[in-house]
Amino acid sequence: MNTDPHIDDFAESNNPVVRKFNDYLDAHGLRRTTERYAILNRIMGINGHFTIEELQQMIDSDGFHVSRSTVYNTVELLMNAKMLRRHVFEGMQAQYECITLPHTHLICTNCGKVKEVRDTNFAAFMNARRFNAFNADHYSLYVYGICSTCARKLKRSKHAAKDEKKKNI
Ligand SMILES: [Zn+2]
Ligand SMILES: [Zn+2]
Repeated sequence: MNTDPHIDDFAESNNPVVRKFNDYLDAHGLRRTTERYAILNRIMGINGHFTIEELQQMIDSDGFHVSRSTVYNTVELLMNAKMLRRHVFEGMQAQYECITLPHTHLICTNCGKVKEVRDTNFAAFMNARRFNAFNADHYSLYVYGICSTCARKLKRSKHAAKDEKKKNI
C-alpha cells in the first residue's frame, strides 16, 4: 500500500470537494479510510468520463491496491453524495463523471466516442421549464449520431466499395 502523505491529509483537507465527501461519510457513520481517499483523489484528477475498469487501472498505476468492490462501493457513495453521475449510453459500459455544469453528450454509434458540448440555449430552456406535479433535479441529454472521423472513414470505405464494384464490371 502506498502511503502518500497527501492522501492522509484528506481527513483534514479544506478542499471543498473533499469536505463534501467527509461530511457525507460523517453524516452516514462511514469511516474515512485511505482507500476511499485514494479513489476520490484519482477521480478528482479525471477530466471527463471514466468506466470502473479505467478507474481501477488508474488507481493501480498510482500504486494503490484497492479491491474492485471497494472501488464500486466508493463510486456508489460518491453518487449518493451527489458528487458523481452515472451515464449508461446505448450499448456501452456504464460511465461516470463528476457533477459539473449541465452539458449535452454527443455519442457516436460507430466508434462509441462521447463528445461533450455546452448548449447555453438548451440549458436556459431547461432551467425555465416547469413540470406539472414534479420537481426537476437534473437532466441528461444524449444525442446519438456519427462523429466526423467516422463519417469520413465511412465515406472513404463506401467510395472504395464503389471503385471495387466498377473494377468487377
Ligand atoms: Zn465515431
Ligand atoms: Zn459528460
